[in-house]
Amino acid sequence: MRELINELKDIKLAIFDLDGVIYRGNSLIHNSDNVIKDLKENSVKIVYNSNNSTATRQMYVDRLRNFNIKSEISDFYTSASIAAGEITNLKKSATIFVIGEIGLMEELEMRGHTIVNVDTDCSKVDFVIVGLDSNFNYEKLMFAQNCILQGNAQFYATNVDSTLPVAGGLLPGAGVMVNAVQTCTNQKPVKIFGKPNPFGIIAILKDTDTPPNKAVIFGDRLNTDILAGNRAKIYTVLVLTGVTKKSDVMKTREEFIRFPDIDKDLNPDLIINSLENIFVR
Ligand SMILES: [Mg+2]
Repeated sequence: MRELINELKDIKLAIFDLDGVIYRGNSLIHNSDNVIKDLKENSVKIVYNSNNSTATRQMYVDRLRNFNIKSEISDFYTSASIAAGEITNLKKSATIFVIGEIGLMEELEMRGHTIVNVDTDCSKVDFVIVGLDSNFNYEKLMFAQNCILQGNAQFYATNVDSTLPVAGGLLPGAGVMVNAVQTCTNQKPVKIFGKPNPFGIIAILKDTDTPPNKAVIFGDRLNTDILAGNRAKIYTVLVLTGVTKKSDVMKTREEFIRFPDIDKDLNPDLIINSLENIFVR
């Protein structure tokens, strides 16, 4: 059994971001499957926390199985599942217009909400929830605008990531759709459920009965994963296999010195080139 580095030897729970940490698009990031296996051997519980709301949790289970990583639906906390849980606390059986994909729609429907399309009377819509939607179009935007401005719908967002890392590079992220709705309504989302909101991480700590000082998050983005982790007061590890490059970290470090007002929670506790670096050589 491989031994964990000193910084992580008391850890009981590891929270993994997915895109840019475990895989990039359809490619497994080298050896992340073995790292998960070896962490489990070290009695570390593994969960996954992704801002990507497009896939269902079952789709994530299947995707990881294809990479030889065993997981269960309850191991996943997506911005869609977190949003659906919170919306349900606000209102049971709500009428919702979704700019988003199956991941978000399914999480809402399984909690008893009704998803409507653009032909509906907008005065009946309780919530407009916006996430990444690869079929986003002007018609959906107009309807969302109508629900919010002419109707009584409240505007929520799953996450505001600017980009989505895929195998060949970057695609536009959910933030693009959220900004479109924000621009044409002149309203900000009431709440953005995904990281950097620490809400999901706090829910994970509660569900797994883990104190913050026994938990770590592995993420590839400073302004989502690391910020959320630091806000939830858990140990934060930036992995340079995704969006953030070493030069970005140097730039952020310089900014910490030049602009003392910058959010110190952007600073990870540890930076590693690869997940392999969490084991003693
Ligand atoms: Mg990521």
